Amino acid sequence: MSPKILYMKRFFTESEERLNAFYKLLNNPGKFVITSHQNPDGDAFGSSLGLYFFLKSFDIHKITVISPTDHTDFLGWMPGVKDVLNFESSAKEQARQLISEADAIFCLDFSSLGRLKDMEELVRNSSAVKVLIDHHQEPDQFADFVFWNELASSTCELVYQLIEALDLTGRISLDAANCLYTGILTDTGSFKFDSTGPEVHRIAGELLRKGVRPNKINRDLFDTNSFDRLRLLGYVLSKKMVYLPEYRVAYMKISESELKQYNSKNGETEGIVNYGLSIKDAVMSVIFIEKDQMIKISFRSVDEFSVSQLARDHFSGGGHHNAAGGKSDLNLEETEQKFLNLLPFYKNQLLSQPKS
Ligand code: 5GP
Ligand code: MN
Repeated sequence: MSPKILYMKRFFTESEERLNAFYKLLNNPGKFVITSHQNPDGDAFGSSLGLYFFLKSFDIHKITVISPTDHTDFLGWMPGVKDVLNFESSAKEQARQLISEADAIFCLDFSSLGRLKDMEELVRNSSAVKVLIDHHQEPDQFADFVFWNELASSTCELVYQLIEALDLTGRISLDAANCLYTGILTDTGSFKFDSTGPEVHRIAGELLRKGVRPNKINRDLFDTNSFDRLRLLGYVLSKKMVYLPEYRVAYMKISESELKQYNSKNGETEGIVNYGLSIKDAVMSVIFIEKDQMIKISFRSVDEFSVSQLARDHFSGGGHHNAAGGKSDLNLEETEQKFLNLLPFYKNQLLSQPKS
């Protein structure tokens, strides 16, 4: 990992006074809202629902998971998913009411309130106690209880560690364990990324002891392609991917009409960007996706090359060192050109990464 990334974490549980205040919060009946970032991924829903089942085990709270936007089919199998309120649905008023009446709001897997989309101001202005559990860089300062480590593999790992710090792992049910395992699995790229340290495997092991079956979760998550989605992937890889060996960069752009051609549903482009990095010696892979008159961009990199910096500096985005996202108001071709114009400035950095 880059030496520029300082080891940084903040665990409120390391202060006895804060830990006691949190126990008090947990042990008094409360109205709790759990929320996560828009376009939820496996870690966003895994951590939210994992925490949801944990808090439910107290049997004294009214707990609702509210997602700023709908989830993709990819996560539809998760336990508890039917109980999640989508803020962009007819449940919006109910969700609004729950947020404004909440005693505590648990903010999981995002570091900036801007990622709550239309819920941002509601949560920002709420007088509820805020709990932040997250592993993204540069968190906003809005929470009363912060459990944050930017080197954690996933928010699910942090939820487990928090429950452990509370000495309450006995309350982790099989449902909770399945949710937490899901986020660890997805955010580590199936235990592949550099964030996969001994702690990740230890926690995964503890979750297996709770009854998690890795084969089932892997099939539920990854072997549920629609035929159209697989054809879209084939099309992108054979016709849309560009590889620039002079920069060690792969990129792909997909228009809205191409997505339509393959009946692509929300979220079905997820993961395609990773294929660019499977090219030998590629350092960065990028995908530009046209959606709702905007271009959504996903960046992936290996080693020291920081895509979060690139996304922050040029594409109003951010994320993690090796996995980041951003957006562009330009059209697809203009966005591609903007990106290509930037590459010479990164050439030295891209070429200085070790070759395999
Ligand atoms: P993805 O490319 O899978 O959408 O996102 C990769 C990582 O970057 C995720 O951790 C995600 O939370 C973060 N990310 C994606 N889009 C944005 C964005 O527009 N702004 C910021 N700050 N982070 C983003
Ligand atoms: Mn995450």
